[in-house]
Amino acid sequence: MGFKCGLVGLPNIGKSTLFNALTRARVAADNYAFCTIEPNLGQVAVPDPRLAELAKLTRPQKIIPAAMEFVDIAGLVAGAAQGEGLGNRFLAHIREVDAIAHVVRAFADDEITHISAELNPLGDMETVNTELILADITTAQKAYARAEKNSKSGDREQQAMRDLLKKVLQHLDGGNMLRALVLDAEQQRALKPYGFLTAKPTLYIANVGENDAAESVHADAIAKATAAAGAQSVAVCAKIEQELTELDANDGAAFLRELGWTEPGLHRVIRAGYAALGLHTFFTAGPKEARAWTLPVGARAVDAAAVIHSDFAAGFIRAETISYDDYINFGGEQAARDAGKLRLEGRDYVVADGDVMHFRFHC
Ligand code: GDP
Repeated sequence: MGFKCGLVGLPNIGKSTLFNALTRARVAADNYAFCTIEPNLGQVAVPDPRLAELAKLTRPQKIIPAAMEFVDIAGLVAGAAQGEGLGNRFLAHIREVDAIAHVVRAFADDEITHISAELNPLGDMETVNTELILADITTAQKAYARAEKNSKSGDREQQAMRDLLKKVLQHLDGGNMLRALVLDAEQQRALKPYGFLTAKPTLYIANVGENDAAESVHADAIAKATAAAGAQSVAVCAKIEQELTELDANDGAAFLRELGWTEPGLHRVIRAGYAALGLHTFFTAGPKEARAWTLPVGARAVDAAAVIHSDFAAGFIRAETISYDDYINFGGEQAARDAGKLRLEGRDYVVADGDVMHFRFHC
């Protein structure tokens, strides 16, 4: 496992409310416990209607959705990079996540204190991003000093590292996130061990007011700003989502109808987080269980086998693969096979989203 998305933002913006709703959300997931693993770490089911469609055909004993983890990271304050607030501990927690879900307050509520008197989502985003950039500058400066010292011996690798870190520092000093710096695959690999915060994939979540759930000028402004920066955003009302998780299934469905929604807003948040992490899904389907598995986009059949069990990968022979659409349109595995829609894929086959796979392997 271990695809972690960290909820980051200023204090009092609804991170914990959102986290609690996320980890309590009901997703069609019978027999499978989604839970809070630690007070601030929760496992969440990835909503995917395709799994239920597959299960209609195979009638399995169990249906198991894909999962990802959300971490509620304590609120950041201006000056965190210099050790203010929880400072370094906070930044260390962000370093551990695979993607950042940057929550932005887009609800007005005089009862709930905020760092500025006026609601200012774009200003808040900048405050947080500045701290992340400052933290990366500190990391890059230390690494640069080390590489410069080591390169004096004439070591080519260290010289290349020094030059790369210089480029990184110049970019950060200009107030830019590392995500926006164009690097080749080798350079990206070289920088990975540093865990630069602004290089992580980021999803912005606008936490809108109860009355703005359908339309919010603040969420629109956030969407515009993030799109311009090449990032994704999603709007949600944490308070409504929290209320939804407190209702039983019938009352929850009635509340959704009242709102005119087909699904809780959390589902969009989870899917967007999943996409921000660069993940997609393959399925296994049989009489015992129908299951959605998580795989990084671009991963191969042998990687998919390893997600299920290391033995599957070690003894990999082939992957019998049917695309989701063929599986559904032909009415199941046998019919798809009869129609010639079952492909025998080798270990280097790049798995497509929705592939229904059956692995053959030597024991
Ligand atoms: P955190 O410090 O970012 O984790 O914020 P919390 O989740 O603890 O929320 C701070 C306060 O804001 C709590 O009293 C929440 O009930 C409230 N809050 C969170 N989301 C919303 C929202 O969408 N609308 C309103 N009116 N209040 C919210």
